[in-house]
Amino acid sequence: MRRTITFALPLIVIVSLVIIVFGLVQVRFEEERLMEDLKRKAETVTESVSLAAANVLQHKDLAGARRLVTRFQNKKNIQGCALYDKEGRLVAITERFKGWRDGDQQYYRGVLASGQPKDKLGKFRKSYVYSRIIPVEDSRGRPLGMAEMIYDTSYVFARLADFWRNIIITLVLLNLALLALAALILRWLFLPIEKLTLWFKHFQRGETGKPHGIKGGGEIGALASEVEQAALSLQVARKTVAEEAAAKLEKEDIWIESRLRDLVRARLGSGDSSIIVASNREPFIHMLDETTGQVRWAQPASGLVAAIDPIMRACGGTWVAHGSGSGDRQTVNAKDKLGVPPDDPRYILKRVWLAPEEADGFYLGFSNEGLWPLCHITYTRPIFREADWRMYKAVNQKFADSILEELPAENAFVFIQDYHFTLLGRMIKEKRPDATVALFWHIPWPNHEVFSICPYQVEILDGMLGCDLIGFHVQYHCNNFLETANRLLECRIDTEKNSVIRSSKETLVRPFPISIAGVSGPLTARESAETERVRQQYGLAGKIVAVGADRIDYTKGIAERILAVDRFLEKYPEYLGKFVYVQLAVPSRAKIKRYSELLDEIDQLVEKKNAKYATDNWRPIIYLKKYFTPDDLKPFYRAGDLCLVSSLHDGMNLVAKEYVAARSDLAGALILSKFTGAARELNDAVQINPYSIEEFADAIKYACELPPEEKRKRMENLRRQIERNNVYKWAGSIINDLAGLKKE
Ligand code: UDP
Repeated sequence: MRRTITFALPLIVIVSLVIIVFGLVQVRFEEERLMEDLKRKAETVTESVSLAAANVLQHKDLAGARRLVTRFQNKKNIQGCALYDKEGRLVAITERFKGWRDGDQQYYRGVLASGQPKDKLGKFRKSYVYSRIIPVEDSRGRPLGMAEMIYDTSYVFARLADFWRNIIITLVLLNLALLALAALILRWLFLPIEKLTLWFKHFQRGETGKPHGIKGGGEIGALASEVEQAALSLQVARKTVAEEAAAKLEKEDIWIESRLRDLVRARLGSGDSSIIVASNREPFIHMLDETTGQVRWAQPASGLVAAIDPIMRACGGTWVAHGSGSGDRQTVNAKDKLGVPPDDPRYILKRVWLAPEEADGFYLGFSNEGLWPLCHITYTRPIFREADWRMYKAVNQKFADSILEELPAENAFVFIQDYHFTLLGRMIKEKRPDATVALFWHIPWPNHEVFSICPYQVEILDGMLGCDLIGFHVQYHCNNFLETANRLLECRIDTEKNSVIRSSKETLVRPFPISIAGVSGPLTARESAETERVRQQYGLAGKIVAVGADRIDYTKGIAERILAVDRFLEKYPEYLGKFVYVQLAVPSRAKIKRYSELLDEIDQLVEKKNAKYATDNWRPIIYLKKYFTPDDLKPFYRAGDLCLVSSLHDGMNLVAKEYVAARSDLAGALILSKFTGAARELNDAVQINPYSIEEFADAIKYACELPPEEKRKRMENLRRQIERNNVYKWAGSIINDLAGLKKE
């Protein structure tokens, strides 16, 4: 009904205005006509009365005067007559007008003095009246008095009221007719379109069996059959692709982008929009430049984004993430979506909006001041605030609602990322138990004693166990998780399958070491030129260069690295003037006190150590505190004879893998903290304990002095490891495990 009214409203307004204006003109015209009639009638009647009046006034025949005025008492129309003597005094008046203009002598004298008839509109008692008065003279033209006719004009207004009533009835009938017409048009035109849209929406979500129910020919019928045809072709194409993909998978054994795409099509089966990824960090962020008003985009510095983006590029699908950029709202459509990468769209990014207090409580507060330090054993105290926990729950629910809107009717597959969404799996499963939900935990999982300090341990574990599969980087984190669930929750652990069974729901717990897309091939001329430019720009030519690239985070051991470089130069002064450490560092979570303190701490440390050693043309540490795009980082990796990764605790650490991937010349050496997930795979790195500054300093010397052949061998092994265990294999293993799960 609302839609019909909205549709018909402009027409109704226009038609009503036209009829009202027309009515006003007609009423005015009718009023003038009726009054003219009355005046003409009054003129005739007064003239004829004046003859009889002359007679009675001349003879002062009072009885005759009364008879004359009484004649009008009985008339059907309310009218009356009054006679006046030549002084203007009332002689006789029709009974019903008794009291007419009592005492208005001035008016009558005026008429007598002018000798001219006069008419007037006025009020008598409650009625509007019209009166016409004429002087009465004898045959010689001497004044005898006056005769006045009085008419009640109410009938004029009654006629006009009738007129208006008719206009309003016409208006109402016409508008009703318009509404009926609008309803008919809507029914005929829009309902089928609406039906068709709904049908297509269901088709997109995988419900392909339903008919759209649009019957009949005409334009709409033709449109419906065209859409049906297109949908059918799409369905057939999807099926063929899935079959081809399954056949191809049988043959291939190297994990490349297309192999993963084939696997997704073969295993998840419902086309290229079936994967829904959820993460806090968005893969592409749009920033508004306040001064120019221009919006620019970038990829945030994040291991998670670096790993998942190639998968989404390969498989398509929808990535649901927090829209945190100042230009994000300007770049989405009405459904908060956009195609990304913005310069070559391969998948859909759906942005979820968070109010500042939501982002603070959920992201900075609970996730990064609570769970992050809880899971990274670096001796930074976790802070749990009840208000942050409430926000965390609310934001998890907000994401769940947003994801549920996107789920296809069948074969729904949700891939949740990280510690920001421990409750999301359970929330999705409550509404869509048929969906397959996996969670990947990108950071370490501590032992149960550490985890048990979290006040919300049961809700968090229960939320996570809503998922069908939980992935960690390494088996050690899986073991910690199984042990934690076993000790803190009512559940059963299947040690053979590595799963947790709680309230008859089973969750697989598996290690999937995350990785990068692959290793780069031989250097191109452009890449060599870029590397050379970096060397020249920062005065690195002829020096032994060590690089590090990190988010500025207390888990990354940046301060320990600077102390190790200091100790190395102190202990091995032959490297003074010959060794340069380039630290690329992007500030992160700076609103949190611990992080802003860390920024100051590193600034001061760099300044102090540079002051200790610097000469006129050399300083040992180049600290570049800003964001570098993934492409910006590569020439630094290539210029680095060593790469220092000294995390105090890290789920994986992708910088270590990116460095190896960039070294197609096989010339670099990787120094890697043994407390990273990467250390379990990258056995040919020089492994260190970053807490031991002495050992770290010695490792730098050792790596500097590695014979080229040894370096080559190590780098070859590292690269082989990464090539064979790339991010496509990582995603493929998760999808394979999930698909197996569905069969079971
Ligand atoms: N990164 C970046 N720009 C920078 C610094 C880092 O793009 O200025 C990227 C880096 O290439 C890597 C990611 O950020 O892909 C960091 O991932 P990692 O697993 O090492 O640590 P995380 O920051 O996820 O804890």
